Amino acid sequence: MTSIPELFGCSVFNETVMKNKLPKNVYKDLRRTMEKGEPLDITTADVVANAIKDWALEHGATHYTHWFQPMTGSTAEKHDSFIAPGPNGTALMEFSGKALIKGEPDASSFPSGGLRQTSSARGYTAWDPTSYCFVKEGSLYIPTVFVSYTGETLDKKTPLLRSMDALSKVAVRFLKLFGNENVTRVTSTVGAEQEYFLIDKNKFDRREDLVLTGRTLFGAKPPKGQDLDDQYFANLKPRIAAYMAELDEELWKLGIYSKTKHNEVAPAQHEMAPIFTTSNLGTDQNELAMEIMEKVALRHGLVCLLHEKPFEGVNGSGKHNNWSMSTNDGQNLLDPGDTPMENLQFLTILCALIKGVDEYADLMRLSAASAGNDHRLGADEAPPAIISMFLGEELDAVLKAIEEDGVYKTKAKNFEIGVNALPSFPKDSTDRNRTSPFAFTGNRFEFRMVGSSDNIACPNTLLNTIVAEELSQFTEILEPHKDEPHFEDEVKNLLKDVLKKHRRIIFNGDGYSPEWVKEAERRGLPNYPSTVDCMPHYTDEKNLRILRKFGIYNREELTARTEIHLEKYSKTRRIEARTMVEMARKQLLPASLDYLDKLCTAIACKKSVGIISKAEEQIAAKLNDLCDRFYESIERLEKQVASASEIDDVLKQAEFYHDYVLAEMDIMRSIADEIELNMPLSYWPIPTYSEIIYNV
Ligand code: ADP
Ligand code: MG
Repeated sequence: MTSIPELFGCSVFNETVMKNKLPKNVYKDLRRTMEKGEPLDITTADVVANAIKDWALEHGATHYTHWFQPMTGSTAEKHDSFIAPGPNGTALMEFSGKALIKGEPDASSFPSGGLRQTSSARGYTAWDPTSYCFVKEGSLYIPTVFVSYTGETLDKKTPLLRSMDALSKVAVRFLKLFGNENVTRVTSTVGAEQEYFLIDKNKFDRREDLVLTGRTLFGAKPPKGQDLDDQYFANLKPRIAAYMAELDEELWKLGIYSKTKHNEVAPAQHEMAPIFTTSNLGTDQNELAMEIMEKVALRHGLVCLLHEKPFEGVNGSGKHNNWSMSTNDGQNLLDPGDTPMENLQFLTILCALIKGVDEYADLMRLSAASAGNDHRLGADEAPPAIISMFLGEELDAVLKAIEEDGVYKTKAKNFEIGVNALPSFPKDSTDRNRTSPFAFTGNRFEFRMVGSSDNIACPNTLLNTIVAEELSQFTEILEPHKDEPHFEDEVKNLLKDVLKKHRRIIFNGDGYSPEWVKEAERRGLPNYPSTVDCMPHYTDEKNLRILRKFGIYNREELTARTEIHLEKYSKTRRIEARTMVEMARKQLLPASLDYLDKLCTAIACKKSVGIISKAEEQIAAKLNDLCDRFYESIERLEKQVASASEIDDVLKQAEFYHDYVLAEMDIMRSIADEIELNMPLSYWPIPTYSEIIYNV
């Protein structure tokens, strides 16, 4: 058996391979491009391309593809073979620098929100050399950004890269205030804990809702839910263990440091967490991980569900986005550190985050918004739709001391900011508040709102931009005082001021409680329960201002993105509604009427010989009534969908889907679920919740 270090990254053209395969000067050029974003000249690109090709051929590749992340929500690829005509009817394997650097897919079918008229400018893809190429299923994958010819972004990676650059520039300047003269690059980091469900493929195939929409649109709650909490961290069943082992191996080959695996709270729910890396690589790796998770499942007769809410009444799945910033000299900027100066720096960054999250709570909220995640946010198990921050008691006490010019007391000593080093914070998970959407966990923030199927580029792009804005404001205020003896006082005054204004965003209590909703309202925190409520705020002037300032999006790009999200919301609901109608008409209603028929025949038959079956009569009466209501609801839902299609305005249409279509879907489902509970198993045409989630 191959050892793990040998296996790890064996399919990746990583740093080590680069060093081995590239001439020294070419390697240096490429590194410069990776670190500083300097363009690669074409001669160098030719050498790199040739080396990558030789390596890819050794690893069984016949094709190459630019691999990008358009606004569809999934990744995209189009494969070209390396093949080129050789002399006398032979074939050569060729790959040029030009082909490595740029691809030109027919981009007209990707969502662009009206940015790129199909008839005019086309899009092109450009190699992102800060993410490694890899070989998978016989193709060389080239991580790529996707832009239109006029330069507008059409994908999720370009804004992320822009935000990483913006944050780095601002943070480098900011850090100089605290004596970090050697820091030249600050990189945002991310570790995305990925939750998922595994269910049996045979059951999956028999549910049109799962096949077409990724979630169950019908299904009565099983007698046992997650009441006993006996799934969380439970030992792994053999079939699941085999799946996870193979998943690890596949991820390791692709250079993904899959680290933690365990059963999650809901039955059939699990989690994989990788070791964190740069936001850029972390995004690519998370996209890749989701794809591999789905593919490996099929080899085990399983289906991996990444939808945020596959089952009603059972916990949904998220993707905890652990976020921090690292410097090129190895500091984690959210680590409190061991010296007074490091602490002051940490507390200042923390306050920048507090201010940013408070001022741009709407951006944070909408960065995690989708039709799927709407079922999760605000429901029992997930963070609420209201953005707040959890800091923990100890850190909160430190901040209170700053705000009130007090002294922070621990058992050991009194702590004075800028004079003493901070006492170490408990980093134990027992201290964590799992109901907070944005929680400090000792050396990073965990943004828990992100949906399980979502691309993490958007939340990280916005988070990076928000932090860049606040750090740049702080730098403007503090820089003039840099070399003054009172610099520390200036910092303290700034922090005091920020805390006074933005303390409202800090909440250490139970985010699931109804009292919090009221309290948040009292504090004036925004509460946007659904995608249609929050998405229009994307283009609010204050948001547009910072996104433009740092060159992340211009007005057109932002408007386009808002439209794409809203359109996607409507399309998702339309598909769901149509699927419901189809299942109801073709499967559920006929089965119910069939059973009703059988009951009525039996009742009539018995009556003719003088027997009265009260049970049958009562069930029949109840079913008859339910079937009538079910039928009416099907008719109504169909009409609602038709009316929705007639609305031209993107926002109005999405609102209609939310207010009317979704509302009718809920009614229809509750009727169907009641019918299910009154039907014999043998008559119910689709697998029940019990059969699906307790079966693996
Ligand atoms: P828990 O479930 O207790 O939150 P996990 O170990 O499942 O913890 O996940 C923690 C995640 O946070 C991992 O992906 C880890 O790599 C990531 N992480 C740790 N430090 C950082 C950091 N500095 N920046 C970003 N992510 C981090
Ligand atoms: Mg976890």
